[in-house]
Amino acid sequence: MTDADETAALQRARELIAEAERIVALTGAGISTESGIPDFRGPQGVWTRNPSAQKLVTIQSYLASAEVRRAAWQERLRHPAWQARPNAAHRALVELERTGKLAALITQNIDELHQQAGSSADIVVELHGTIHQTVCLQCSDRRPMRETLARVESGEMDPPCRLCGGILKSATISFGQALDPQVLARAQSAAESCDLLLAAGTSLSVHPAAGLVGIAADAGAKVIICNAEPTPYDHLAAEVLRGPLGTVLPSLL
Ligand code: NAD
Repeated sequence: MTDADETAALQRARELIAEAERIVALTGAGISTESGIPDFRGPQGVWTRNPSAQKLVTIQSYLASAEVRRAAWQERLRHPAWQARPNAAHRALVELERTGKLAALITQNIDELHQQAGSSADIVVELHGTIHQTVCLQCSDRRPMRETLARVESGEMDPPCRLCGGILKSATISFGQALDPQVLARAQSAAESCDLLLAAGTSLSVHPAAGLVGIAADAGAKVIICNAEPTPYDHLAAEVLRGPLGTVLPSLL
């Protein structure tokens, strides 16, 4: 695509936003890379650089191996989310919400940067949970992550639930784990009832999240995809924008 093509696509996408009345945004790891949190599958992604890392994040290996859990707690201690701050792309979605048109901000991210930027908790749908809390896999007790990380720092390498002794994990969805059915239903119903779906910073390769694009398109919504690399849903999109989100979303929104 030439610069002139990009500019024309941006202009057409702006018109679609202006015409829309009920917009749903679907975001992924790519919206937070400019805040210093690497994605999984982009060129600098965690799994692009180390494909075997993906095996460590299945719920089966987490449940079966204390060694995997100890490694996971060390990763959580060092997670870039603790230092990350929202970037211009997160803030652009706050501006979109101010227009009154943003019905839902569905995110696959676990970093809470949308809420930190100022998006209302009411419209943010966290499909894959949050790293800012822990959950007990036995009794479902939830606590702030920082409480449990303090235990890890003081020497508990695989801290058990204080209430029932069960295995603790970040309150995120691991591979092999089902999404919360109520959260998924809310996202699907938002996708069905929007007139424009804006997907940003997602490779659209994780289901059921990626399927929301098809649901919206089948229900008659226009689709705009903003992602640095091609996605399997580009053919459904009225416009595809490839530039960095920290620049593209502020100029679009
Ligand atoms: P992904 O890694 O599969 O895809 C990210 C996409 O964003 C890539 O196609 C990449 O080209 C694009 N991208 C990266 N930086 C960009 C930028 N600055 N501008 C434009 N495009 C950019 O991510 P996904 O689709 O969200 O799926 C990965 C899963 O990983 C999700 O389930 C999510 O829960 C989890 N995850 C979350 C975070 C986070 O919370 N920040 C980080 C890593 C992974």
